[in-house]
Amino acid sequence: MQKMPVLFVGHGSPMNAIEENPFTLAWKAVFARIPKPQAILSVSAHWYVPGTRVSDAAQPKTIYDMYGFPPELYAVSHPAPGVPELALEVGRMLNVPVTVDNTWGLDHGTWSVLHVVDPGAEIPVFQLSVDKNAEPAVHYAIGRQLAVLRERGVLVFGSGNVVHNLRQVDFGMAGGFDWAESFDRAIRQRVLARKDAEVLDFKSLGGLARLAVPAPDHFNPLLYVLGAAEASDKVSVFNQACTMGSLSMTGYLFEAQST
Ligand code: ZN
Repeated sequence: MQKMPVLFVGHGSPMNAIEENPFTLAWKAVFARIPKPQAILSVSAHWYVPGTRVSDAAQPKTIYDMYGFPPELYAVSHPAPGVPELALEVGRMLNVPVTVDNTWGLDHGTWSVLHVVDPGAEIPVFQLSVDKNAEPAVHYAIGRQLAVLRERGVLVFGSGNVVHNLRQVDFGMAGGFDWAESFDRAIRQRVLARKDAEVLDFKSLGGLARLAVPAPDHFNPLLYVLGAAEASDKVSVFNQACTMGSLSMTGYLFEAQST
């Protein structure tokens, strides 16, 4: 079996689930390029709770954890099967306490992207939470432990946004504010150079970091992805852009080098 890549997607607006735009076209291109996953382990910014939790639902429900969008968006569902045995195995293999929790479901961090790239909801998917009490090194270490799943055709998928400041959003703006572009660029340089420790230490970017990451919910999924990526992986950047002033859509794909 071909070793699965690891993927971080900047999901941006939930409307991407039902719109066609350069961002969603790039997501489709990524999924057309990588091997079809046996399963997807999604680390979504929107399951941001105390502790590490995993869902072992056989049929995860689509949940609508966003407000004020048009009815069409609430009509989207992503009825992909779950992966109960694998979810429980992941819960046992991590060296942090893991709770099985099926009160959540597939949130819009997961389905707004997967509905685009797998409209038939064929690929089984389960979510792992982002522990809101954990330090960056813990997220990274969990990602590191998930790396073995790549050998089994599992796509470790982080969904968030490198820059995410909803208080500063300007819906009419095409690009990003200077600070958003600067932070996105700084993180990109660190990711491409695989200076992972410097990505974990994003707070060293000071005022830029405080604006770009007012809370780390959307940033942390990147740390799981970096943890699951090998130093030898080839890194590709897609959707290298900010939008609405204070969101970064930048995504990263880490692929094993063919020898
Ligand atoms: Zn989000």
